[in-house]
Amino acid sequence: MAQSHKTLKVSAPLVVATNRQWLENATIIVKNGIITDIGPTRNLSNVKADKVIKLKEGLISAGLVNAHCHLELSFLAGKLKRRTLFTDWIEDLIAARLKATKITVSTATAKAARRLIEMGVTCVGDVTSSFDVTPVLVKTGLRATVYHETLGYDPGIANEQHNNLISRVSSATCTDLIRLGVSPHAAYSVSGALLKKTTEYAKTKRLPLTVHLCETEDETTFSKFGKGPFSLLHNRRGVFNVSVHGKTPARVMADGNALENALCVHFNYPSRGDIALLKKKGASVVFCPNSNKWFKRKVNHALPKLLKNGIAVGLGTDSLASNTDLDIRAEARQVMKLFPDMPLETVYKLMTTGGAKAMGVDNGLGELKPSSPFDAIHLNINVSGKKSPLHAIIDSRGPVLRSWVAGKEIFNNN
Ligand SMILES: [Zn+2]
Repeated sequence: MAQSHKTLKVSAPLVVATNRQWLENATIIVKNGIITDIGPTRNLSNVKADKVIKLKEGLISAGLVNAHCHLELSFLAGKLKRRTLFTDWIEDLIAARLKATKITVSTATAKAARRLIEMGVTCVGDVTSSFDVTPVLVKTGLRATVYHETLGYDPGIANEQHNNLISRVSSATCTDLIRLGVSPHAAYSVSGALLKKTTEYAKTKRLPLTVHLCETEDETTFSKFGKGPFSLLHNRRGVFNVSVHGKTPARVMADGNALENALCVHFNYPSRGDIALLKKKGASVVFCPNSNKWFKRKVNHALPKLLKNGIAVGLGTDSLASNTDLDIRAEARQVMKLFPDMPLETVYKLMTTGGAKAMGVDNGLGELKPSSPFDAIHLNINVSGKKSPLHAIIDSRGPVLRSWVAGKEIFNNN
């Protein structure tokens, strides 16, 4: 991995600074990982730097944000069947995780983290229930929020599960680039008692929180009435409906103080009033369109309505147990397919500032402008004709040429 340089000067034929501004023959000046200047190369030619990179081809864009992933499930790539019932897939997942060896899981986790980087991600929101993912992420140089997951529908195990969560979070590495968070898994898998403990802990420790919300219609049926496939799943696993929530999943989370500034994953099947509730609580959403496609779900996603209501939305891949790749540009292409009228600048925003804002890392990340961290990618794209650079980026396939996080080169494919 390359050394970080105190001052860095990078020029390229094209720099996509934001979703509305791109500059031909431009130069970016970076000091201690932060952009201090950006403009036409001819205006910045006298600026000295410890390291100068003159890119002859391609374009530079802000790095991409994958706001929802489970790297530790990457060993399941191509292994699980597409089940009609989500609960059957969950049971397959649980069985496969019990059988997997530590080395299989860790090898696949490291490989998937490299895949994220080569496909242009510089910031990831990862959900984990182990001790092992943070060290992998630290090694890669990625910017990340690692959300430590907790679950257990039986209130009798809430204490035990919570102590386990505390021990994982307390021992996890935290760096300038790695932030820790928590994740009460979902309304169908967390008891009221465990939810309360988790949200109190998050508040005390000021930890960001993410939750799977309204992924399937069965989730709402179970949450409201304690019936349906999730009830059968719990019964098969020896957990009976001792504490039916009796309300919608979003209401469960709101009443458990889990919705304030929370990152809500999926939000495929909201109930009436949920969007207003999210807005009131300052919650954000991660949309995972290719995971929905993998499950063959018919989702009429509320994405346009969320954006119209000013709710921050980012894109996520979810895991390789329910997706074929960890490729945010492929997620953006699926958004364009589902919403052909959506402006390109909105779709590009979902991959960059939208994801950063949804994750609550709104420090200028996702744009290349003064005071933003230099988290960027170099793509082998030479835009010609009338094609918008944003379209060219979304349309591009394959690995990026180079990546930087906080001014440090973390990937070089040259
Ligand atoms: Zn997930």
